Amino acid sequence: MKKVAIIGGGASGLLCAIYCARKNLSVDLFEQNQKLGKKILVSGNGRCNITNEHLSSDHYFSQDPKFTNYALDNFGLTAFSKFCKSIGLLLNIQDDGKVYPLSNEAKSVLTLLETQAKNLGVNIFVNSKVTDIKKILLKYDAVVIATGSEAASHLGGGSDGLEFARVFAHNIIPTYPSLVQLETDAKFLKKMAGVKIKGEVTLLINNQVEKITQGDILFTNYGLSGFAILDISQSVSIALSEYQSVQVSLNLLPNFNAQKLSAHILSASKEIQHITLHEILCGLVPQKIANSIIEHLNLEEHRSHIDTKLSKKIANALLNLRLNIDATHGFRHAEVSGGGVDVSEIDPKTMESYKQKNLYFCGEVLDVVGERGGYNFAWAWASAYLAAQSISITKIC
Ligand SMILES: Cc1cc2nc3c(=O)[nH]c(=O)nc-3n(C[C@H](O)[C@H](O)[C@H](O)COP(=O)(O)OP(=O)(O)OC[C@H]3O[C@@H](n4cnc5c(N)ncnc54)[C@H](O)[C@@H]3O)c2cc1C
Repeated sequence: MKKVAIIGGGASGLLCAIYCARKNLSVDLFEQNQKLGKKILVSGNGRCNITNEHLSSDHYFSQDPKFTNYALDNFGLTAFSKFCKSIGLLLNIQDDGKVYPLSNEAKSVLTLLETQAKNLGVNIFVNSKVTDIKKILLKYDAVVIATGSEAASHLGGGSDGLEFARVFAHNIIPTYPSLVQLETDAKFLKKMAGVKIKGEVTLLINNQVEKITQGDILFTNYGLSGFAILDISQSVSIALSEYQSVQVSLNLLPNFNAQKLSAHILSASKEIQHITLHEILCGLVPQKIANSIIEHLNLEEHRSHIDTKLSKKIANALLNLRLNIDATHGFRHAEVSGGGVDVSEIDPKTMESYKQKNLYFCGEVLDVVGERGGYNFAWAWASAYLAAQSISITKIC
């Protein structure tokens, strides 16, 4: 019987193990952590955004995003839903295309994957960190590197897979944190820590508009978080690695234009008796933001006389709050990593290495990273499926 070793008991490793075992192969799955699938458990804030209805290479970053086409076509939403049903997992497709387990719990995804793997006879070895890839390759007919990326080291993120690839002279595309919070040294922001608003973020690289996103912006002690920030973080990470200047402009009141907002500030100050600047701002934004804007613009809090020039200045600070971005919050806090094993050295139809026979890569260890929205799991599932299919039809030689 063909013997397969899978290194990594995360999303791609588990799915690959199940498909190999379904073809009656002997499967040993090695996981360094005490438990399998730690990232699955925390994903999507505990809900697991498991895939997306709108899969295509347009949602991926890589030296060659089209590399993902074959895998996504072969194991898209329909095939994946069928697989999920076969392990007892039903899915819920949201209006925005994001797909979650019907239970709304990441835990059910991991439980059903793990149970299925065990029931099929996959030998699961936890607390088993693989260190010697050559030794493993000698012992097994096929080896799958499903070790994930450097993102979130506390959940098992690391660079072992890249080191294994280097042993076979694979080229590694430099890695960088993505879907990650951003750091800024703007001191006044610290006072806004903990406040979350719905706003608009414009990313400026070398003073040129690169991207605009809308959604949650969360102010933190170190800088900025929230979905609208994560959605620009891929471009930020790349720009910073190329030593470009990165700024964001935050629009804290996207439903106003500058004229309307400054007119409101001016009329409130004239028409509402004794109203202070602080009070006017509190009518527009959370108090912590109001205080910080006053500090940022060096305006004394109780200033009552507001002229046109000042109302425009305040409106501009609320609609175009410019911040320099110094760094991302790093791999430890990132959801995913860009870069990885160069996909030009991997067969897109099988995930087998062109450099080493019977060696396969799947998931995030490859130079493929997706946008937020379930695209990263989608890649893990689809690439793992191809590896398993190929392993199960390749004859032992
Ligand atoms: C907080 C957070 C939230 C996320 N939410 C989502 C989401 O909602 N939707 C989405 O699409 N994506 C999400 N992601 C990304 C998603 O989790 C990953 O893209 C996906 O898990 C990658 O699958 P993988 O199999 O390649 O790697 P992983 O799932 O990371 O699995 C790799 C496994 O290999 C093990 N390993 C590493 N080296 C060795 C070794 N030498 N020996 C043995 N074992 C080893 C690791 O411990 C790990 O368990 C999230 C990530 C994080 C951190």
